[in-house]
Amino acid sequence: MPGVEGGVGLTALMVAAARAIETHRPDALAADAYAEHFVRAAKASAAWPVRPAEVPDGDANPLWGRLGRYFGLRTRVLDDFLTRSVHAGARQVVLLGAGLDTRAFRLGWPAERVVYEIDRDGVLAFKHQVLDGLAAIPTATRRPIATDLREDWARSLLSTGFDPAVPTAWLAEGLLLYLPSTAERRLIDTVDHLSAEGSTLAFEVKLGVESPEIRANPVYVATRQQIGVDLLALFDGEPRPDSAGHLRELGWSTETHTPFDFTRHHGRGPLPEPNDALAGNRWIFANKPGMYR
Ligand code: SAM
Repeated sequence: MPGVEGGVGLTALMVAAARAIETHRPDALAADAYAEHFVRAAKASAAWPVRPAEVPDGDANPLWGRLGRYFGLRTRVLDDFLTRSVHAGARQVVLLGAGLDTRAFRLGWPAERVVYEIDRDGVLAFKHQVLDGLAAIPTATRRPIATDLREDWARSLLSTGFDPAVPTAWLAEGLLLYLPSTAERRLIDTVDHLSAEGSTLAFEVKLGVESPEIRANPVYVATRQQIGVDLLALFDGEPRPDSAGHLRELGWSTETHTPFDFTRHHGRGPLPEPNDALAGNRWIFANKPGMYR
């Protein structure tokens, strides 16, 4: 059963470690008290840092500094997106490739919201083992769904109580980069099909395949060397579909941002550098227009 200890599952632990470090920064943009427990509980990550003081070169470290700051910023921006969406009328939230995301436990949700978390069986089993050990209590109704997003996940979602007639806030954070382009296209079509008017979707993409100069960026090299995670090998190598454009064809409105837009907004986070591993990253915010909201 693929879990968190290898392959793409390890990226969930990497993001958890970045969130743990962010939580303890004096200028933290997001707080996740559960994150360090995941990192410590898995053999593969037990020795990784979970505090800024455990990263000797601090922000100069390409992995726990620059990329870590990126994950901290992304967490905050997408926390804000979900909070905005549920206050604007979304009744349910679907976290696609939820990994070790603890928003169902740490955000303050309005009453009667349901959070669906989709990831593979092994990842969710590990997550539950850690959260159960902490006696963590969700702040919304939480429904985990163990399934592979390359398969027919809509059926599992619908059979778990998901209601396609009410607005949904969807999130694909750090997921689409790893999916084959056909699965990404199907996922976008499925989200559209299951979305009532007033639904929202945020997702992260990378524009195109990166040049050899970008592939040699210290962020990729340090991630491989320091924790053995070869992001470039895990990313799907096919040309990427234009999912924002596809959503617009389906009648959604979209806004595309670089992470640097939010660095400037919040006053911290990564800024562009030469041959930047983050330059192709885009965060897309989409709305299915309607009267519901
Ligand atoms: N969204 C979480 C976050 O930001 O903390 C996790 C991000 S992690 C980088 C990528 C997640 O996508 C992992 O938990 C992985 O198991 C999940 N994932 C990748 N491919 C998947 C697939 N085919 N089906 C289900 N989950 C998948």
